[in-house]
Amino acid sequence: MLTIKNLRAHYGAAQALFDVSLHVSAGQTVALVGANGAGKSTLLKCLMGLVKPSGGTIFLDDQDVTRKTPARMVQLGLALSPEGREVFGTLPVVDNLRLGAIPLKLSRAEETRRMDEVFARFPKLKERHTQLAGTLSGGEQQMLAMGRALMAKPRLLLLDEPSLGLAPLITDEIFSIIHQLARAGTTILIVEQNAARALSASDQAYLLANGNIVEQGQSRDLLLDPALRAAFLGAASHDNPATSRLGAAGLTNIRLEKPPMHTNFMSSIASSEELSLHQLRGLQWTVRHAFEGSPAYRAKLEAAGITPESITSLDDLPRLPFTTTEDLRDGYPFPLKSVPFEQLVRVHASSGTTGKRKVLCYTQKDLDDWTDMFARCYQTAGITPLDRVQIAVGYGVWTAGMGFQLGCEKVGALAVPVGPGNIDMQIQFLLDFQSTVFCSTASMALLMAEEIHKRGIADKIAVRKIIYGSERSSRSMRRKISELFGGAELFDITGLTELYGPGTGIECPDHDCIHFWGDYFLLEIIDPQTLERLPDGEWGEMVVTSLCKEGAPLIRYRTRDITRIIPGPCTCGSVMPRHSRIKGRSDDTIIFRGVNIYPSSIDTILSSVPGLGSEYQIHLTRDAAGRDHLRLLVERAEGVGPDRTPELISEAGHQMKKQLLVTANLELVDYGSLPRSERKSQRIFDTRIDDEIV
Ligand code: ZN
Repeated sequence: MLTIKNLRAHYGAAQALFDVSLHVSAGQTVALVGANGAGKSTLLKCLMGLVKPSGGTIFLDDQDVTRKTPARMVQLGLALSPEGREVFGTLPVVDNLRLGAIPLKLSRAEETRRMDEVFARFPKLKERHTQLAGTLSGGEQQMLAMGRALMAKPRLLLLDEPSLGLAPLITDEIFSIIHQLARAGTTILIVEQNAARALSASDQAYLLANGNIVEQGQSRDLLLDPALRAAFLGAASHDNPATSRLGAAGLTNIRLEKPPMHTNFMSSIASSEELSLHQLRGLQWTVRHAFEGSPAYRAKLEAAGITPESITSLDDLPRLPFTTTEDLRDGYPFPLKSVPFEQLVRVHASSGTTGKRKVLCYTQKDLDDWTDMFARCYQTAGITPLDRVQIAVGYGVWTAGMGFQLGCEKVGALAVPVGPGNIDMQIQFLLDFQSTVFCSTASMALLMAEEIHKRGIADKIAVRKIIYGSERSSRSMRRKISELFGGAELFDITGLTELYGPGTGIECPDHDCIHFWGDYFLLEIIDPQTLERLPDGEWGEMVVTSLCKEGAPLIRYRTRDITRIIPGPCTCGSVMPRHSRIKGRSDDTIIFRGVNIYPSSIDTILSSVPGLGSEYQIHLTRDAAGRDHLRLLVERAEGVGPDRTPELISEAGHQMKKQLLVTANLELVDYGSLPRSERKSQRIFDTRIDDEIV
């Protein structure tokens, strides 16, 4: 949208800007950071036509707008909220606001409409609309200056030092408004001395020192990359200010809001050879540890003719006996315990709906390892110490809440431990705490997304990432969640109670696969019927073997989750191995008239028909003649009327037939009419005799 090329400016003989080049794309928030006197305000004044540049060009959408008048720049879509607010103290608030739109010569009605919009964004200004601007507090004057700029409905909003001289609490408020403006689509160029603030509120940043751009890049990288951070922010106010560029530029008032933390949780393993060696050592350790520590494991290993010494390569893995859910239930409560009770510090249990719960025990090292793995997941998803993580998963004996919590605190982010359900409180916290990350099941995320949409608050919340797990999710469901949350990025996190808990792998930022932490466990894919190992790339049941788990090690544990190993390196650059998103569980595969159907393939088909919603139910029945019937109840997408029903049924039926080779009785229902749940929504209702599922 805005491109500045080689801009120069002088005040008399003194040069203030030296060939400054900069770019702002539409919809972006770009920060210009630098010390007092670095040339930041001069740059904004050149843009607004308040200072005539002595060289260089300013383009707005490819149009040369260098040296236009301030009034013309407002007409072209720029508006400035200047440093020091510059409100007219002897005029009331409303008159100050009117000044912002004067060059546009608005009708009275349009002016009133815009003022109402500004009041909606700044309720404090509405309360004080007749008050003289000079009697407002500093924060309120800042709001007035921003409101005045917004009266022009700018395409590009220029904010000069919005936090200058304000108390931290007021600064929070101002930045949360800036954030809302950005989410509502306003393009913003913000000038700030407070680098940490400006970087965490922007997409791109430029560092200006003595009239020169000395550093530029993505704000997140500048904030987190240790080398860039040293150069950009430096240990500016700590040990030796002059060593950083900001320090050299005389800017020594910068502190990050939190002390430097241990920020890297990625594995130090650099190659697949190194990983294999590490895994072999872990496997040997695990077999010996289980053999010596657990009578149950020892009996199984001996029956299979395995001694710890006989494990000499990773190829020995398939010789080891499987561990199953039944082993866990039969040996209730501590079947896999391989250390004395004195070494245990915690137990967790699965939510097991039938029979006995699966109980797992942990040593302190197990918990530390789990926490590090979870922190690595957060790091992969780009969560930083500046994030506020609202955790809406179960706390208690289940592993979920604990894992999300410990990992969050380890990363140094702010945890908001709400637990599942309680939609009103969740919404209130999203608004009041401006949580930036939301963690839940996919069903809960959908429920929240629809609630956010219903209340029309997408541009008032700050969620930019959603981490969800423990449940399959279709493409259209993901799309819907992201959209209704105002464009949040989704990350599918994996894990199971038996193997620490959630956090043993996560969708990567390229959104192409799940990376799993191969330095903590081995993953095999087997055919659930023949139990033979399948080659990489083929779908089958996931089997895991822990490499350093003390309390309850796992040897070839059958997870029942269906996935596949994706061979080859990932585009994101991680050396950690990867698998596809979980397709379903081997025990909830539907067998219908001899065809194996994973529920995820139904997700895929429904997602591919525009006009259908993401929620559905499958009802399987058997008639008197012994013939099976599949009835598929699907919601129409929001806003799609019943008149399109015949066409949608025909298309979905055709796709089912073509891709799954089955004929389904399709029925469409209104959007929102199928029940939603905060945990996992039940979608499959099978009332046939159970004889095929054994
Ligand atoms: Zn990746």
